[in-house]
Amino acid sequence: MPDDRDIAYYKKRLEERLAVIMAGKAAKNGEGPVKLDQTSVGRLSRMDAMQQQAMAEAADRLTDFERQRIGAAFKRIESGDYGCCVVCGEEIAEGRLRFDPSVLMCISCAQKAEGK
Ligand SMILES: [Zn+2]
Repeated sequence: MPDDRDIAYYKKRLEERLAVIMAGKAAKNGEGPVKLDQTSVGRLSRMDAMQQQAMAEAADRLTDFERQRIGAAFKRIESGDYGCCVVCGEEIAEGRLRFDPSVLMCISCAQKAEGK
C-alpha cells in the first residue's frame, strides 16, 4: 500500500456508502416484499407486479454483493492491503478507487474476470 494514498478518504466513502445501503435495506424490511396480487385486475398489472418484484430482487442481490465488497475493502484497509488488486497484487489505479472505493481488482484483472 503506497503511503501517498488517502486511506481516510476512501474509508469515509466506504462508510457513507455502507450507511446508504443499510438505510435502504432497513426501509425495505419495513415494507416487506412486493406482494403479487393474484386477484388483480387483468393480466397486464400482474405482469407489471411480477416485473417490479424481479427488479427489486435483482437490486437486492446487487446491494448484497456491494455490501460484501465494502466489508472486504474494510478488512483490506485493516490489513494494509487496501488499494492493491486481490488477484495480481498490483496497485489499483487512483481514478478507479475514487470512482468506486469498493473495487478489489485492478482494471485488467476485472476485465479478465468479466471475460473481456
Ligand atoms: Zn490485478
